[in-house]
Amino acid sequence: PTILAIETSCDETAAAVVRGGKEIISNQVASQIAIHEQFGGVVPEVASRHHVQNMTTIVKKTLEEAELTYADLDAIAVTEGPGLVGALLVGVNTAKALAYANDLPLLPVHHIAGHIHAANLVQTIEYPAMALVVSGGHTSLIYMEDEGDYQIIGETRDDAVGEAYDKVARTIGLPYPGGPQIDKLAQEGEETIEFPRSWLEEDSYDFSFSGLKSSVLNYVHNRTQRGEDINKADIAASFQRSVVDVLVERAARAAMSYDTKQLILTGGVAANSAIREAMEVKMKKIGVQLIVPPLSLCTDNAAMIGAAAHVEWKKKNIAALTLNGVPNLSLQKR
Ligand code: ATP
Ligand code: MG
Ligand code: FE
Repeated sequence: PTILAIETSCDETAAAVVRGGKEIISNQVASQIAIHEQFGGVVPEVASRHHVQNMTTIVKKTLEEAELTYADLDAIAVTEGPGLVGALLVGVNTAKALAYANDLPLLPVHHIAGHIHAANLVQTIEYPAMALVVSGGHTSLIYMEDEGDYQIIGETRDDAVGEAYDKVARTIGLPYPGGPQIDKLAQEGEETIEFPRSWLEEDSYDFSFSGLKSSVLNYVHNRTQRGEDINKADIAASFQRSVVDVLVERAARAAMSYDTKQLILTGGVAANSAIREAMEVKMKKIGVQLIVPPLSLCTDNAAMIGAAAHVEWKKKNIAALTLNGVPNLSLQKR
């Protein structure tokens, strides 16, 4: 099937046409980063308004780029949740209107299922598979015995890793979003500062990043209060080392303990160069195949929603036109 997918869960207004869950025909993303940067983070009301402003143009551009009309489509897919409710509603209502007007089935997609299926756009996922989703709102290890079957075996107990990146970045005066900034700055620094790693219980697959975050914040505040200089690049490098160590250890242990040949590393933070590098080395060592989507498919986009929509298409999971945006939509109960 040829599916037009729409994604508006946070601050990216995105649409894409994906065929068979694997082939990107067109892919458009309008990022609002420049708008939210001045506020130091995403302002929900502002995000919704910009989605409204950009949505029609983005959908039009997507079909033009694909050289298709609505008559060529088999379905409309949309991110149902999780995300900012006002932002989600713009995508959901657009998708409902398009489905109704063109008499097309409406496919509801979970945003995290989208991040995971970005992998299918670069390589075929073979089940059972393990996914490590690292993003602005999630840090989860998800085991999939079969397609569409999501078992969350571990997740963060406090901050998501992207959240920690953004907060640490803000503390050392880097602009929003902080992840890419820390990534860059860390390359100029040295891992000279010993920040903690939260291992939790020995057999747990959960994560915790608030201790690490606080430790960086305290370090910076103590130094500045005493009038001492701080080396931002060293802080970035040391913080990132802690994150990388924990993510790689957890992912490797999960991949070895569960029956899996592949590990999918995905979500906005999977754009991080140090995480990608370390994960590659480790997976090679333990003989697990690593799938990491390219940067543009790791951060929010609609092509990944189109890829995940293929699973819903096969399950004939057609949404009614009463579909609503669900800010805390669960992945497991689908
Ligand atoms: P979720 O997917 O959990 O709903 P989200 O959609 O807001 O959250 P994404 O867009 O998937 O999150 O990811 C955004 C996060 O990724 C931000 O926290 C950003 O700082 C982080 N990020 C982006 N690039 C990098 C990078 N190179 N290194 C580290 N973090 C990064
Ligand atoms: Mg985003
Ligand atoms: Fe996301």
